[in-house]
Parts: sequence; structure tokens; C-alpha cells
Amino acid sequence: MEKFDVIIIGAGAAGLFCAANVGQKGLKVLVLDNGKKAGRKILMSGGGRCNFTNLYIDPTAYISTNPHFCKSALARFTQWDFIALVQKHNIPYHEKILGQLFCDNSAQDIVDLLLIECKVAGVSLRFQSEITEIKKIDNKFLVYVNEKVISSNALIVASGGLSMPKLGATPFGYRIAEQFGHNIQPTRAALVPFTLHKTLLDVLQTLSGIAISVKVSSQNAMTFQENLLFTHRGLSGPAILQISSYWQPGEHISINLFPNINLIDYLTHEQTIHPNLLLKNLLAKYLPKRFIETLQILKKIPDKSLKQLNKSQINTIAEGLHNWQIQPNSTEGYRTAEVTLGGVDTSSISSKTMESEKVIGLYFIGEVVDVTGWLGGYNFQWAWSSAWACAQHLIKS
Ligand SMILES: Cc1cc2nc3c(=O)[nH]c(=O)nc-3n(C[C@H](O)[C@H](O)[C@H](O)COP(=O)(O)OP(=O)(O)OC[C@H]3O[C@@H](n4cnc5c(N)ncnc54)[C@H](O)[C@@H]3O)c2cc1C
Repeated sequence: MEKFDVIIIGAGAAGLFCAANVGQKGLKVLVLDNGKKAGRKILMSGGGRCNFTNLYIDPTAYISTNPHFCKSALARFTQWDFIALVQKHNIPYHEKILGQLFCDNSAQDIVDLLLIECKVAGVSLRFQSEITEIKKIDNKFLVYVNEKVISSNALIVASGGLSMPKLGATPFGYRIAEQFGHNIQPTRAALVPFTLHKTLLDVLQTLSGIAISVKVSSQNAMTFQENLLFTHRGLSGPAILQISSYWQPGEHISINLFPNINLIDYLTHEQTIHPNLLLKNLLAKYLPKRFIETLQILKKIPDKSLKQLNKSQINTIAEGLHNWQIQPNSTEGYRTAEVTLGGVDTSSISSKTMESEKVIGLYFIGEVVDVTGWLGGYNFQWAWSSAWACAQHLIKS
């Protein structure tokens, strides 16, 4: 029987980074993956340029049943540590907006970084690995893969979440966790576009492809100011993806179409200067004309000149445009979601080492854990930080 010190399930961001860190200290490491190649999500990420971390990483940008869980790992392996590694590999990168760091060239640069680090560390990678069973007997893990049995002293589950099944996502990590007595926090798609009910979709569909800058709020008062994109299915764009992580089915979202203007003050002021100006023409200075027309269909903008508006009408218009209430029908689900909320419950995992508190030698890292970040490089940073915390413990134990 083949023997390894450490077997890692998943050749994604967390699995590869952990393997490299552990292997470089002389441990014999095997990474198993069900796909044909390493880092498939990394390659797809950030529109092909991988938003690999964020300058403003902060635990408050993570959603988890235990919001404190991510703090230790994020503090011990920070965005600056990963940036230093990117610089060591001479990978050109830039800040896009809001501290989001992207490769100048391609996400392949990050996959190459990880594969080079793994190669230097002597890590074995095996693809198209179908794992059928895992047992722990005495102090060894037995992994049944492609009709063979391999053993290891430690087993690291880095098999990710459920988003994008066509990129190899499976619930396998959750099943292993359950097998060894861990709870799973309910999972659902996050960082995902919304679909709309037919009546509203019929009106908004014509705007497909148009992006506007908005502030979106959820019923639990989370707010994001970024772009909203109309799609042929509903709503997308960074502001919508962000708020989707805080949205519960049945809830409304509130969209502020004029986040940087106080419309009551503005309309009252403009009324005195351009009394004959049509309201729709004034607002068209800020929003695309087609969208203004749609807002008229939705009865948010009356077809009147400014002088025809009384105080109460201005208040109603301002409320309607600052606080456009929309009830999404649903989300597009795991098919297009960037991440999965929920996952392996953190209450039985050490936040310092990522080791199971139920089974010695069993670890969970990356997205399989109930820690989900905002859009903007936060999820990869969690993968790097949790992988590093786990690796440090394995090296020392
Ligand atoms: C389209 C898209 C774009 C994204 N862009 C960004 C971005 O720019 N910035 C950011 O921070 N985050 C981004 N994310 C999120 C980010 O990709 C994930 O949070 C991150 O990849 C999680 O890393 P991981 O190693 O935990 O899991 P993954 O990277 O998903 O890796 C898990 C690996 O395990 C393998 N696996 C699964 N089941 C099994 C099994 N049964 N047996 C063997 N192997 C298995 C999978 O094939 C996969 O290779 C994006 C996600 C998507 C889908």
C-alpha cells in the first residue's frame, strides 16, 4: 500500500497552497482531484485575471455562523504575505477598485505560482481521482481511490463548495465531514445573480446589458455601493452579487438609484432654476435614457416638468428612486454562483489549525468550511490563510 504523510483532497486554491507549504518542510504529500487539471476555479476567476486578494481584508467581510472563526487565520497569513509571494514570482498585478488585486496578464499566473511551489516541495498531484471511501483505522487514514487504497497520517479536505458543478464542485467534503461526526451548516448559492418574477422581468428585460451605479441594501441592513447590471434573467453586477449573500428567499432588496445625491434637495433646487425642464430630461443626466423610460413605465417618474411638481410629489419621487423595492424571485443557483454559503460547521474545527476537534489528523480548509467572503478577492484570501494555518500545524506536529 502506498503511504503518505499527508493526503489533500482538492487541487484548488486551498489544497495546492497547503500542499506546497507542507511539502516544503519535507513531508510526503499527495493531492487528489476529480478533475483533469489543477485550479480550475482560479482559471475562471476574476474574468480570467484572478482577483487573488484584497488590500482591505477584514474579518467583517466574511459570513459565517461564527464570525470570529476566520480571524486567527486571516491575521496570521495576511494579504501582504500572499502579495509578497506574487511579487517573488514576478507576477504583474494591479488594483482594480476597492482594493481588489488582479493579475495584469492571466489567472494562469496564479495557478503556475501554486504548481511551481508544489513542484519545489516535491508534492505529488493526481487528477481524475475518484475517491469512493475513506476510513480511519488506528492512526491512519485509508483513502480508496481509483480502485486502490492509499494511506496517510493526516487527511486535509479542500474540496470546495457547491458552486459551478461544471468546474468539478461536489458535496464530497460535506459527506466526509458528516461521516466523521461534523455538522454542516445549511448551504446555499451566494455571490449569485437574481432572477425576477415575470411581470417585472418583462419590463426590465429590455435593459439587458445596461449597467448603473447604485447602492443596494438587504433587509438586514447590509449595503453595497457598486454597479448593477440588468440581464435577460434579472439582475447581476457586483452590487447584486454582494447583496445576494445576505438575501433570504421572499425578502425585498432596496436599490438607491441616486446614491450620491439627495433628490429632495436637488429637485427643489433645480425647480427654481429650470422650472420648464422635464423631470425625465433632468434625471437622464444621471441614468441611461432607456432606463428612465422604463422607470416611467414603472410609474416612478411622472411625465411632468419640474414646475408641475409639488412638495409631496417630490417626496414621493425621491422615495421611489432612493428606495426602489424589488422582491427577487430567486437566484440563478449554484450554476452561476461564485461561492457557497454555509458548509462544515466551525464549532468543531480549531480556528488556529483547521484541525477537526473530533478526529485527530483530519483538517478542513478553504470554501468547504462555513466561511464565505465578499466579492473582491476575499474568498481566495480565505483559501490561502486557512491553508497556511493548517500547514503550519502539520509541519510542527
Ligand atoms: C466563476 C468564479 C469566479 C470567482 N472569482 C473569484 C475571484 O476573483 N476572487 C476570489 O477571491 N474568489 C473568486 N471565486 C471564489 C473562489 O474561486 C473560491 O472561493 C476558491 O476557489 C475556493 O478554493 P478551494 O480550494 O476551497 O476550492 P476550489 O478552488 O473549488 O477547489 C476544490 C477542488 O476540489 C476538487 N473536488 C471537488 N470534489 C472532489 C471530489 N469528490 N474528489 C476529488 N476532488 C474534488 C474540485 O475539482 C476542485 O479542484 C470565484 C468563483 C467562481 C466560480
